[in-house]
Amino acid sequence: PQFAALGLAEPLCRALEAAGYETPTPIQTASIPKVLTGRDLLGLAQTGTGKTAAFCLPILQRLAQNPKKPVPRSMRALILAPTRELALQIAEGMAKYGKFAKLRHTTIFGGVGQGPQVKAMSGGLDIVVATPGRLLDLVEQRLVRLDSVECLVLDEADRMFDMGFIRDVRRIVKLTPKQGRQSLLFSATMPKEIEHLAMEVLSDPDRVAV
Ligand code: AMP
Repeated sequence: PQFAALGLAEPLCRALEAAGYETPTPIQTASIPKVLTGRDLLGLAQTGTGKTAAFCLPILQRLAQNPKKPVPRSMRALILAPTRELALQIAEGMAKYGKFAKLRHTTIFGGVGQGPQVKAMSGGLDIVVATPGRLLDLVEQRLVRLDSVECLVLDEADRMFDMGFIRDVRRIVKLTPKQGRQSLLFSATMPKEIEHLAMEVLSDPDRVAV
């Protein structure tokens, strides 16, 4: 009932129950209702606070509420993360929370062959969790396109900056539709560079800090 009170639909609440979650964390309580409205969000939050579920759950719900036929090589929601480990962790969350939602997701990251990633993208799908370098590489090869993105998440933006990915991130953002795109940015710290990036990417965002 606590997750339902945030506005989450039954299939998601059922998945949370199956995962053994009883009470939303503070960032989930603050973020989920805001993201469900379609507003942009700037979240100041450390890892370990439950921020993955805070963005995965409302994204899953918004995609499931408005089903669309997949566009080849495209995705509806794109989550960018600094490392392969974090990308896999987020994808695990999408699988766990989306257990009863009929949405398809995949991961894209470097250091492995691109063949399986290209194949997974060929028919298009709902959600892609990616690291910036490999994603941009596939986009430049015309194997992935970003013009159907409805929801964009930059997770651990400060780490993406520290790892030198900000140029790639900016290029990726520019290739997604500006009109009608919901954007979320999470960062553990908010140095000036991230504040600037947030102002470029987000439109009239709500803010949460935990
Ligand atoms: P995160 O900050 O997203 O990396 O999440 C930290 C850990 O907390 C993960 O292992 C989640 O599975 C777990 N978690 C997230 N939200 C909840 C919740 N509401 N109840 C119990 N565990 C949770």
